[in-house]
Amino acid sequence: MLEIHQFPCLSDNYGYLLHDPASGETAAIDTPDGAEYLRQAEAKGWTITQIWNTHWHPDHAGGNKDIVAATGATVVAPQEVERLTSIDRVVAHGDTVSLGEFTAKVIDVGGHTHGHVAFHIPEAGIAFVGDSVFALGCGRMFEGDPEQFWASLKRVRELPPETTLYCAHEYTQANAAFALHADPDNAALQHYAEEIADKRSRGEPTVPMGLARELETNPFLRADTAEMQQRWGGNTPAETFAAIRAGKDGF
Ligand SMILES: [Zn+2]
Repeated sequence: MLEIHQFPCLSDNYGYLLHDPASGETAAIDTPDGAEYLRQAEAKGWTITQIWNTHWHPDHAGGNKDIVAATGATVVAPQEVERLTSIDRVVAHGDTVSLGEFTAKVIDVGGHTHGHVAFHIPEAGIAFVGDSVFALGCGRMFEGDPEQFWASLKRVRELPPETTLYCAHEYTQANAAFALHADPDNAALQHYAEEIADKRSRGEPTVPMGLARELETNPFLRADTAEMQQRWGGNTPAETFAAIRAGKDGF
C-alpha cells in the first residue's frame, strides 16, 4: 500500500512524498522547497530515493539540488527540467517509472509549460498532475497553445473517473469563484463551491480532488459541452477552452 504524505510548501504549493513501505523507496513529487522536503521525510523516517518532476518551474524543481546533495536521489523528469537542474532519467509520454512494485505512467499534459508531464499510478488510483489541472481550474497557459492544452486536458479526462488527482497548489477558492461565473447554472458546481468555502473557512485543504467531480464541475474540462460553447463561443473545443482560459486570466 502506497503512503502519501501531503504538506503545505512555500506560500500555496503542496508538497508530496510518496512512500512504498515494502521496498522502502520514497519519491518526492516536485520539489518546491528542498529543505522542507528533507525535514518532512526525516519526520516520517523516510529517505527520499527518487524525485519525480512534473515541469521545470522553480516552485516544482527548485529543491532538486538540495535533495540530491543530501540523499543521492535519482531525478526523473521531462527534458525541460534541464533548464534548472540535472536529470538522471528523462521521461516523456508513454514511459513508465517504478517505485518499488508500483508503476507510474507518464502522461503528456503540456500547455502550462511545453513539456509538463503527469504521473498516473493506476494500481493506486492516483495521479500527480502538477500545474496542469487544479480543483475547478487549470494552469495558466505560459508556453503552450490552446490545441496542445486542450489535448492534454482530454488525456486527464480519459483517466478512470475514480482517480484521485493531486495538484500542486491550493488555488481552489479563487478557481471556484471564476467557475461559478463561467458556468452559473451548474448545480453540482454550486454544491461543490459551498463545500470548498466551508473547508477553507476551517483551514482544510481542498486537494486532492476526485476526477469524477471535476468532470462535472471544472469549466476547463467541460470546454466541449453545449453549455460552455454557448456561453464562451468558439468553433472548436480548443477555441472554447482558449476563451475560458482568457476569461480566467482577466477575472
Ligand atoms: Zn508551474
